[in-house]
Amino acid sequence: MLKRFNIRVTGIVQGVGFRPFVFNLARSLALGGWVWNTSAGVEIEVEGQTEQVNSFYRRLQGEFPPLARLDSVEFSERPLQGERKFVIRPSSSGEMRTVLISPDVATCPDCRRELLDSRDRHFRYPFINCTHCGPRYSIIKDVPYDRASTTMAEFPMCLDCQTEYNNPADRRFHAQPNACPVCGPSYRLLDKTGEPMEEQADLFGQVRQLIQAGAIVAIKGIGGYHLACDAFNGFAVDNLRRRKVREDKPFAVMGGSMAAVRQMCLVNQTESEWLTGTVRPIVLLIKGTGYCLASGIAPGSSCIGVMLPYAPVHWLLLQPDDVWVMTSGNRSDEPIAYEDADAKERLFGIADYFLVHNRMIYRRVDDSVLRVVKDKPYMLRRSRGFAPAPVALAGEYPCVLAVGGELKNTFCLTRGRQAFLSAHIGDLENLATYQSYCQSIAHYQKLFDIRPEMVAYDLHPDYLATKYALSLELPGIGVQHHHAHIVSVLAEYGINEPVIGVALDGTGYGTDGNLWGGEFLLADCRQFVRLGHCRYLHLPGGEKAIREPWRLAVWLLYELYGKEFVRWQLPLAGRLPTGWELLVSATAQGINAPLSSGVGRLFDAAAALLGLRSVIHYEGQAAVELEQAAERQAGTVLPYDIQEGQPKILDFRPVFAAMVEKLRQGKSSGELAAAFHTTLAAAVVDMVGRISRDTGIRRVALSGGVWQNMTLLNQVIRMLQQNKLMVYIHRQVPSNDGGLALGQAIIAGEKIKESR
Ligand SMILES: [Zn+2]
Ligand SMILES: [Zn+2]
Repeated sequence: MLKRFNIRVTGIVQGVGFRPFVFNLARSLALGGWVWNTSAGVEIEVEGQTEQVNSFYRRLQGEFPPLARLDSVEFSERPLQGERKFVIRPSSSGEMRTVLISPDVATCPDCRRELLDSRDRHFRYPFINCTHCGPRYSIIKDVPYDRASTTMAEFPMCLDCQTEYNNPADRRFHAQPNACPVCGPSYRLLDKTGEPMEEQADLFGQVRQLIQAGAIVAIKGIGGYHLACDAFNGFAVDNLRRRKVREDKPFAVMGGSMAAVRQMCLVNQTESEWLTGTVRPIVLLIKGTGYCLASGIAPGSSCIGVMLPYAPVHWLLLQPDDVWVMTSGNRSDEPIAYEDADAKERLFGIADYFLVHNRMIYRRVDDSVLRVVKDKPYMLRRSRGFAPAPVALAGEYPCVLAVGGELKNTFCLTRGRQAFLSAHIGDLENLATYQSYCQSIAHYQKLFDIRPEMVAYDLHPDYLATKYALSLELPGIGVQHHHAHIVSVLAEYGINEPVIGVALDGTGYGTDGNLWGGEFLLADCRQFVRLGHCRYLHLPGGEKAIREPWRLAVWLLYELYGKEFVRWQLPLAGRLPTGWELLVSATAQGINAPLSSGVGRLFDAAAALLGLRSVIHYEGQAAVELEQAAERQAGTVLPYDIQEGQPKILDFRPVFAAMVEKLRQGKSSGELAAAFHTTLAAAVVDMVGRISRDTGIRRVALSGGVWQNMTLLNQVIRMLQQNKLMVYIHRQVPSNDGGLALGQAIIAGEKIKESR
């Protein structure tokens, strides 16, 4: 019997080889009909024997190409039309733009093979790609996604490329960035002043020689510039650090092969899958016994951020044994450079050479960073390879813009069951970053055709994102920072019932005007109650106390012992700057001493007290170093105090008193750093247990930047599970402020739904 089906597919189905797949499948089953791209996805009609039509429908959903993502497949039966041939029809253009855009994808194995095949016309061509790989988001100016609306538009295809592009049986059928040495973009080498160098026959071999000789090279890639140098060369690494004005923050490296990575780090199965997959993020790995990179790469750290080549240029540059520093092409705190003129200007004085190409990067995209926790990804920066693919939501949501926070900013737009969380934007206090932020919001709204009916923003009046939101002519909703953190976890799991939310971070604006950051909330997607928090601590000198943790430690010691402590043998007491007494008396009078409940501040104070770090050079440095000091030490639980009440108060002063006592007894700082972690974990679990008994709630969501601390995270998860509580941690978005916008968007969306 003959049958005809109409099938509508939504999801990531354009620019990923979906139509040729449909075409080949239909032909192999001898079906007639057609396929075309619509503004909503892909529409198909097939006609043929019932068994074949059924088989088509089944295999469509089981065998689709690797980069495609099917969000919905609807089918209906249609009257027969006697069609025998299957064709790809030209695309339709509709009103609604609901197509999803693929993120940038690492070069696939087929292209990699051709890249190294001297008989192939793409041999050693650094822009080789196909429907299964290559740049996407970074080159798209507009939708529908075809060559004319990408930055490849200025490279007309040669006959060979056009033939591939037109042939549905070819793996480059409608590969929009398709190009070859004859017709496509190309690389050039410039000296440090931006003047073209005399090029040797093997440009990439030439660059590798320069790097081996100790040079720093700015390399234009997929989403922006990297600064590269030989990771074994201490002199080059130190040079890079000095020129980039980056004192201690670790550099990421790129290994030429998996073998090179295994040589220096421990790699488990899941980590290896992420390193070699289509996303190819930077994965944080633990250094192994064979680790021998220059000491300046990740000073003092037991971990290092590692990635493998993901663009053709990387395979052409790195030999299998090579390990190169590959850090964002920027000066400290600036956004990554992606425009050529801008790169030459801003990287002047840092790079010895520039390896540039003439394809424009339309939107900059940083490398994504994750680590593997309990066999699943734990995101630290969600960017290349992930954005702009949406986070799937459990229910339908109205269109909302959430503007995010101040540091590690991302924004979020919602539509239906999708939340489009932007690629990593960066710290908005930088003007160039802020400009890029405004442009990216406009770009996302255009690409996904989202006209928000409400804007959600953080309560902090000084955040640039908040000011931006208030400048829009849209109804707005202010969202408390830690509520947004917790709801961003709930959104990932589609939970919309009250949970115990443990939001631990450095700083977030509280509803009482104080700085929060050690919060135990009873929260759902609409509202929250603050059931507990860490005891407020003065920040002596305000913001300065965040950059100079010794201030916190001094104030704590003063609170506990008066000026007595100076005469004791404490690591901190010997290195106090002059004027500390003035600071203490000003703080005692409440002058420039705002209150903070941030757990980040407890880490800072502990690191300073133990003599590990009294001034920081990047956000979270004291906490990172405290965690490092705690490694391989068994921590004991020190006394802490919880005052019952509404809210309950967790007081950590007894912990500091115990640490002082043990320091005077000669205990090591490593031992005490471990005790600090163990005690914090125990106190968190104690608080959660009490709240759970009071409320009967057994679900616990963890969010906030402090949960990037693996020692604390692992201990708390284990202890909560021992207490038969259900623990939810982030998997798709970062627990730091990079995930904030998702929570803001959901809270605003719920608000709109409620008012209808
Ligand atoms: Zn490919
Ligand atoms: Zn060509």
